[in-house]
Amino acid sequence: MDYLLTEEQKMLKEMVAKFAQEEIGPVAREYQAKGIYPEKIVKKAGELGLFGIAYPPEYGGAGMDFVSYMLAIEQVSRFCASTGVIISAHSSLCVDPIFRFGSEEQKKKYLPGLCSGQRIGCLGLTEPGAGSDAGAIKTTAKLHGDKWILNGTKQFITNGAQAEVAVVIALTEPEKKAKGLSAFIVESGTPGFKVGKHEEKLGINSTSTTELIFEDCEIPKDNLLGELNKGFKISLVTLDGGRLGIAAQALGIAKAAIEDAVVYSKEREQFDQPIARFQALQWMMADMFTEYEAAWLLTYRASLMKDRGLRYTTEAAMAKLKASETASFCANKSLQIHGGYGYTKEFDVERYLRDAKITEIYEGTSEIMRLVISANMLG
Ligand SMILES: Cc1cc2nc3c(=O)[nH]c(=O)nc-3n(C[C@H](O)[C@H](O)[C@H](O)COP(=O)(O)OP(=O)(O)OC[C@H]3O[C@@H](n4cnc5c(N)ncnc54)[C@H](O)[C@@H]3O)c2cc1C
Repeated sequence: MDYLLTEEQKMLKEMVAKFAQEEIGPVAREYQAKGIYPEKIVKKAGELGLFGIAYPPEYGGAGMDFVSYMLAIEQVSRFCASTGVIISAHSSLCVDPIFRFGSEEQKKKYLPGLCSGQRIGCLGLTEPGAGSDAGAIKTTAKLHGDKWILNGTKQFITNGAQAEVAVVIALTEPEKKAKGLSAFIVESGTPGFKVGKHEEKLGINSTSTTELIFEDCEIPKDNLLGELNKGFKISLVTLDGGRLGIAAQALGIAKAAIEDAVVYSKEREQFDQPIARFQALQWMMADMFTEYEAAWLLTYRASLMKDRGLRYTTEAAMAKLKASETASFCANKSLQIHGGYGYTKEFDVERYLRDAKITEIYEGTSEIMRLVISANMLG
């Protein structure tokens, strides 16, 4: 589908594909098996500008568009879905709300370090009792003089262990529930702020997923991000963009599963012929590729709408729903095509299946995506 892309987008895509193939591909399997955070790759990705693709150069970004960002996340995730979400959680969930809702002072203070990848960012929204229902958040932020005092625990936070800058959603007026939520910027090293439990996970094992714990954590009054009590809206706007990052991650996993199935089915012989000759497998591959292209077009459309300043909430939900379910579908079919070998750690396809599953869950489950889409239809 390269004919839909501008010359600049094609060049970016090729550059990231080369980087991912040469530098991420050779270590991805080992890093994920051992749960190693890809520090050197993250540093190099930062040098290439991948942590601030869609933000203006005046804030340290690469000054490109959101479609370019989508293309980059897909290319990285083709080789390593963990690295894909490290970049997308950082960019979509931390850089984006600071860029979109931050004061000029906050943007100047935080964005250059974040866009260069020198400082990693995260978003603390989810809590033990508040997942799909962000309105159930219990973390509080109380104003005392010129300080906000935060108390509470965030859960399942991507980049939690590495992040130096966290966007945190907390209750400023508890009686108003979702309408009493506000967003804050909290830096690592602030007294009263620590990283808690590290989750052991089914997939994306090169990422950290941790608790963030706030115990009488004092931050400056000026670290309120956006308007007071607008934290719910900030979260929703942030998640719209984040969902496209996850859709792009899912596309990368689906593409990797398809490519591996094609290679393997041409090499593996049974009944004196390559298994690619069997129509049962050809049809699986045809379905995989068709689903992938449909998901790609939905993700591209929503990204283009974002670039054009149009409302794209429903389109982002459709893209994430389709791309994430396509990633699981393609990984599952690819594993079937690999037969018993696909079930072993000798091949990457079992990792694709494990990595694909999370794309159906985080930044809004498939059920929540269907709620968003149907709400738009039914009014
Ligand atoms: C690896 C990983 C990384 C994550 N990274 C981050 C992060 O960086 N920052 C962050 O803030 N959060 C993060 N999360 C949290 C993630 O976004 C939530 O797990 C997700 O939104 C679902 O919330 P939950 O797990 O509490 O599930 P629940 O909300 O408890 O859902 C359980 C089930 O009920 C269904 N359900 C819930 N409500 C409805 C409804 N109204 N209608 C129909 N079905 C419904 C869900 O679809 C799901 O099937 C991460 C999670 C994981 C596992």
